[in-house]
Amino acid sequence: MSVEAPAPRHIRLTSHAGGYGALPIQWGAATPAERGPVVGTTTQRSHRNVIGTHSGSYSVYRALAVAAGALSRQHKADLTNTAPTDEIGPYPQWSDPGRIVSLDPWGAVVSQAFAAELAAGYDIRPTIAVTKAHVVLPEVIDALQKGRLRADGRILTEGGAAMVTKAAIEPVWWLPGVADRFGCTEADLRRVLFEETGGMYPELVTRSDLEVFLPPIGGQTVYIFGNPRDLANPDVELTARVHDECNGSDVFGSDICTCRPYLTHAIEECIQGAQRGGVGLVSYSRKEGRALGEVTKFLVYNARKRQAGGDTADQYFARTECVAGVQDMRFQELMPDVLHWLGVRRIHRLVSMSNMKYDAIAGSGIEIGRRVNIPDELIPADARVEMNAKMAAGYFSPGPAPDASELKNTRGRRLEP
Ligand SMILES: [Zn+2]
Repeated sequence: MSVEAPAPRHIRLTSHAGGYGALPIQWGAATPAERGPVVGTTTQRSHRNVIGTHSGSYSVYRALAVAAGALSRQHKADLTNTAPTDEIGPYPQWSDPGRIVSLDPWGAVVSQAFAAELAAGYDIRPTIAVTKAHVVLPEVIDALQKGRLRADGRILTEGGAAMVTKAAIEPVWWLPGVADRFGCTEADLRRVLFEETGGMYPELVTRSDLEVFLPPIGGQTVYIFGNPRDLANPDVELTARVHDECNGSDVFGSDICTCRPYLTHAIEECIQGAQRGGVGLVSYSRKEGRALGEVTKFLVYNARKRQAGGDTADQYFARTECVAGVQDMRFQELMPDVLHWLGVRRIHRLVSMSNMKYDAIAGSGIEIGRRVNIPDELIPADARVEMNAKMAAGYFSPGPAPDASELKNTRGRRLEP
């Protein structure tokens, strides 16, 4: 079916209040009725109560589809049968405005929570979707064949498929809370977001009455091994990893870092934990290349490998800083929100060596038991540079951190064979 391309018309600026009909949002309110729905529709301007629109970075593709005439801008999602496969919450953390500032805890259940508003014609879209999947990884099959994992038909099948519940989460930022996390004023945050996106969202600076922003960035996906309700029970052993996206390693197996081996090791730990009667969780954030993006990341790889003396661990952070201006742009301040959405109060085994992640989780009030490092034999030879540099910089490791001479002598492969 073809849809007519939009006819030329006057441009509707969003920087001024559109009239009556927008429902108020009271962030952190105890019930959805008091909190109010997040309305980011682009069709009924007067209903909008947020800055930006849905789908994160994909909002731009949506605009392209409208521009190409492939998508009607009036299209309203038919949400029949899209409800979550598993119930998450509500948990007390949902109504603590300090705990969750970067996602909408009610985002998975808008059809039920805001049924009256939907019936009244408000275009309210889920920002979270929960489904089930079988995930099949060669590393898990290998662990099964070597006897490190066993099939139980509940968590892991004979064929090596892990049965999971997974949730996709789009960012929904409550700006006063986000500013608070980063220790700046809300006014400064709004201004810098406006200026550094080339003036993309004028309401950031003109509409201080709108406190919620749907940023055009990637969100996160959580994979749950075992019963999702157990995540909120501090007496059930929780094995968890919070992983930041690294497409080159996670998907394509690049050996310059430990991302995929660490991820698959965490999945193995999660499966074992769930089979012991616990529950496992992998939270996967779209923060490619320390949130610097792949172009910057690949530039850094070249700078590392071409520098005088070759790619050594003692220059690892310096090279990133030369190209990007910072060593890391991931800022873990918002990361724990998803754990609070899941009701997590205690992580028994945190599969991570990152101090930034540990500090952010512990600082948000979640108790952490043991930290689980990546086994030495899983670290690719070329990734030794990164691993030693991180350990020397204070990342958790069970043994002693490498000293200065070891860092100088930890050398990666050259660009040319
Ligand atoms: Zn990586």
